[in-house]
Amino acid sequence: MANVQDSSNDNSSDDDDDDEDEEEDPMEESLVNLVGNTIKELAPAAQVLCRKQIILSKLGRMGIFRVVDLQTIMDADIQMVVAALSPTPLLFAFKLKQAVTALLAGAERQSTSSQFSPAGAASTGGAASTAGAASTAGATSPANATSPAGTTPGSGAFQTPPINVAPAATPSPSTSVIATVKIGPQTYIGAHQFTVTVTTSFAELLRLAISGKSEVDRAKLEGLPVKVETFTGPQHLSTHKADASLSALVTDSISLGYRHIVFTHALPAQKPAARPSNSAFERMMGLGLPDRETAADEAELSFDQRLYNWLVDVCEEQGLGVRGDEKKESISTGDIERYLTATLERIVRVSNDDKCKVPTGEPGNPVGTNVRPMAAGVALKSVRLLAMDHSWHRASITPTVTLLSDVAHGFETGNWRHGQLVVSIKDSVLEPSSAFRNAAELATTVLAACAKPIILDKRTDGGPEQNTTFGSVQLADVALWKKTGADLCIHQRPAADNSWINEVEGCMPLLNLGMQHQATERLRMDPKFEDLFANEGSMSAVRAKIDSIEDASERQAAEAAWLASLHGSGGPIELLQQRFGRLVYTDRTLKIQPVATSAEIAAMHALVSGIDASWRPEMTTKPALLKLEKLQRFLEKHTIRDKYIVCVFKCGDPDCEFGCGPLRMPRAAFDELIGNRLKAKCKI
Ligand SMILES: [Zn+2]
Repeated sequence: MANVQDSSNDNSSDDDDDDEDEEEDPMEESLVNLVGNTIKELAPAAQVLCRKQIILSKLGRMGIFRVVDLQTIMDADIQMVVAALSPTPLLFAFKLKQAVTALLAGAERQSTSSQFSPAGAASTGGAASTAGAASTAGATSPANATSPAGTTPGSGAFQTPPINVAPAATPSPSTSVIATVKIGPQTYIGAHQFTVTVTTSFAELLRLAISGKSEVDRAKLEGLPVKVETFTGPQHLSTHKADASLSALVTDSISLGYRHIVFTHALPAQKPAARPSNSAFERMMGLGLPDRETAADEAELSFDQRLYNWLVDVCEEQGLGVRGDEKKESISTGDIERYLTATLERIVRVSNDDKCKVPTGEPGNPVGTNVRPMAAGVALKSVRLLAMDHSWHRASITPTVTLLSDVAHGFETGNWRHGQLVVSIKDSVLEPSSAFRNAAELATTVLAACAKPIILDKRTDGGPEQNTTFGSVQLADVALWKKTGADLCIHQRPAADNSWINEVEGCMPLLNLGMQHQATERLRMDPKFEDLFANEGSMSAVRAKIDSIEDASERQAAEAAWLASLHGSGGPIELLQQRFGRLVYTDRTLKIQPVATSAEIAAMHALVSGIDASWRPEMTTKPALLKLEKLQRFLEKHTIRDKYIVCVFKCGDPDCEFGCGPLRMPRAAFDELIGNRLKAKCKI
């Protein structure tokens, strides 16, 4: 091949084109001649419009260096060749196709007659050099120049089975490939033909391909990771593509028919332009960092080193679990990934709701959970009904369900229904849901998941215990915020009829699965208490009866007896705990959390009275709260309250009269997320 390059270089000296990679022209001589002869066949008027060198250089840019390449491309899409050769007359392309077909048909006849010629020996000189100091015999042989496989003589790989030539196991001493070098999507060195030997690796081929570039450029390229892809035809036509490693041998690829090679250097890392983001992380950091959510898939994330080190400083200062020795000379994407993940773990998102009450029968008279695959129960006459209908009961059980969403998963997929389910099962009579009970239980759930949360996002719906316009709910949120120490606690509640927005709603069917075909009955109390409650037919009647007992110890004993009949060993709550404890949601077993004790609820009350000592738990109405001047001052400075949302946050003031504590998030993030919004009188 090398000699062909030499001769065509001579030809091109009179008609230069704009190709920068001039040092060698790998165009097959037969192709050069074919183009020349086809032009000569045209009418003189058309010949004037066809410039041979321009046509050849345009073919080269399409990856066509051999007659067989030209045939492959013309057979696949002649229109593409017509378009590529424009403004060369249309007729030329069609004449060229005819000529190619005729030439190859003739060559096939010739090659079968010449397959035993010992041309391989002649071409060894070409293999030793790429500079062109080589033999001429192989290349000038017509059989070689127009061989359908386009191989150098003696390669044997694409020829009809030889009889007397070298055995197939001995690879050819040299052969040629087409290689292209790219940087990202940009072509750096266009398709060129290279001669390789049996020991040439892709790495060596790449070095050869870029050898004409300056030393500085080569050094730059060597710093970039490179991907090797091999194709059976030109890249834009081939349907067969394979990856290769730099250390692999090029001839191995060729023997499988892959002789078009594309080296792609990864683009140097570039800082993506800042884009607006809805990512909570980004807003929290308030720094416009690109993240997994906003950066395009193919974009390399790179970060300003000073910015990163500043973040480390700030986080270290504020006890965010990042150490000074994590500062970097240069920052890798992996470092940032780890940092983001560590921070994401300190954003807690809970979705909470009560499941509908589970009717619970009297001792000896179990009542069905009313959860059946079909609404109506059908039974044979011979079947003894073991459970009563749900309308006959006075006790009931309330499961409260909380979904702790996987925050990282949520940001990545937009799906917040992935996470850990936590269930507390309580007696509906003496452990009714209330804003403060709910806050006490959520605080336990949150702190078990994350000891020092930065942001707490709570989503609820349902009853008065979650109505964000109620004073009790707002103050319970204040208590939850204080208990967890979060910088920001957001409590959102959907508008009426939109409870489906609350992610935990989607988990309720799973709990139904656990309650199917179950009946519950409470345990029998001491006869004294069974007699006491004998005539109290409803939950409120039982509650009223207990309240009516004047003696405090008697009253507590009655309460304890009732609670034990539901919570006691072998009782209905234990049954449901066992059933729920066997359920699995998003690969995690449901967690059963104990019900908040009255002491824990009192501790939540105390957090509010710690803000204003004159507050009492029964003060929940607006007029009552408006009278508490200090509490109002706190609410003014640390909360935003609206119909569907309550936000409670630290004020960031180190001298805060309520001692709301130092920020856990960086100051810049706090300003972005809270401070600036308040200054701008933005409600949320
Ligand atoms: Zn404060």
